[in-house]
Amino acid sequence: MRIVDIRERTVPISRYADPRIPSGGLNTSVVAIVTDIHREGVPVVGFGFSSFGRFGQGGLIRERFAPRLLAAGETDLAMGSRDTLDPFRAWNCMMAGEKLGGHGERCVAVGTLDMALWDAAAKMAGKPLYRFLGDCVGREPSRPAVPVYASGGYYFPSDGIARLRDETRQSLDHGYTHVKIKIAGRPLAEDLRRIDAVLSLLPGGDHLAVDAMNQYTPESGLQAAKALASYNLQWFEDICDPLDFETQAHIARAYDPPVAAGEALFSLADARNLIRYGGLRPDRDVLVFDPVHCYGLPEYLGIIQMLEEHGWSRTACRPHGGHLFCLHVAAALGLGGCESNPHSFQPFGGFADGAVIEDGSILPPEAPGIGFETRSALRNVFRSLLGSIQP
Ligand code: MG
Repeated sequence: MRIVDIRERTVPISRYADPRIPSGGLNTSVVAIVTDIHREGVPVVGFGFSSFGRFGQGGLIRERFAPRLLAAGETDLAMGSRDTLDPFRAWNCMMAGEKLGGHGERCVAVGTLDMALWDAAAKMAGKPLYRFLGDCVGREPSRPAVPVYASGGYYFPSDGIARLRDETRQSLDHGYTHVKIKIAGRPLAEDLRRIDAVLSLLPGGDHLAVDAMNQYTPESGLQAAKALASYNLQWFEDICDPLDFETQAHIARAYDPPVAAGEALFSLADARNLIRYGGLRPDRDVLVFDPVHCYGLPEYLGIIQMLEEHGWSRTACRPHGGHLFCLHVAAALGLGGCESNPHSFQPFGGFADGAVIEDGSILPPEAPGIGFETRSALRNVFRSLLGSIQP
C-alpha cells in the first residue's frame, strides 16, 4: 500500500463557545492522509488534527514529515497482507533520521499525522479505533465506557462568575458529573470565589478539578496549595513550569489531595523525568499526557509501559485533549478516563453527535476509525480538505 496524498490546513479554534470573545489567535492543524487502498469503491482517507493548545504545525508537516510518508515504498507501510496500513511502521518512516532530545514541537506535528494514520488503518480494518488499537496491543476492552469530565472554566472578560455557573449547569444538564476549571490567571481570592461558585452546584469537592495552566511560581503555587487543601478537590493540575520538577515535588509534599501533571510534557524522556523527580504519588495522582502532543500513539504506549515499570497503574492516566481520539485511546488501553471539551475548541471538542453520558461515562462510537464522521460539524471541516476526493 502507498500514501498518495497528504493535505494540511491550519484552522482557528477558540477556548470559548461565544465567538465574540477573542481567542488569542489559537489554531490547530487538520490533516487528511489519502491512501491507495479502497473500501467499497472509494479510497480510504485518515483524518487527524493537532489537539488543543500548541497551535498548528503546518510547516513541519508539509516540509519534513509528510514527505517521508509520501516517499515510503509499498512494503514500508503495510501490515501483513499488504492492504492494511501498519501505523507503527509508518511512524518509523516519519521519524527516520530524527535525533533524540530537542523535542520542541516536532512531537505535535508527528502526533497529528499519527492520529490520521491510525484513523486510516482502523478504517481499512473496518473497526472502530478502540477495537483496532486493542487488537494491536493485545487488549480486549472489557469495559469500553470511559469516565469523562467536562473541562472548561476559562476566564470570561465580563460577568465571570455568572457565566461560569451557567457553563457548569450546561455540563451537568448534558450528564457530566465532574468538571474542571482554570485558575491562576487572577488573584487567588478571586479564584477561590470562582471555586465556591462552581462547588455550590456540585455534590462535593471531589467532583471539581482545577487547572493552573503551569502559571504558578514556587511561592504562589505553595500559597495556592495551602488555600486549596481543605476543599479536597478531585485534583490540582499543571501547577508550575512543566520542567520545574523540584517545585512540583515541593508542592506535592505540602498538598495531600491529588495533583495532576504532564500535559505540557511531550516525550517519553520528559515523562520519565516527571515520574523520577516530580514527587508524584502513584496511589492518588493523575497523569494527563496528551497522546497527540507526545509524538502519537507509539510514544504514548512507551510512556504507559514506563509508568507500569515504575509501579504506576495505567488508570492514573486521563489524557488531555477532550476529543474523540483520546476517548478511543482511553477505552482501548484501559486508562482511568479522559477529558472532554463540550464548550471549548469547537467543532473538535467533545464526542459524537447525540452521544449519551451515563453515570459520568461515555462509549466511543462504533463507526470505523476514530469516527470524526459521527460529528457533523467536524466531518465538514475534514471533508473540505479533500475537494474532489470523496471517501
Ligand atoms: Mg491542563
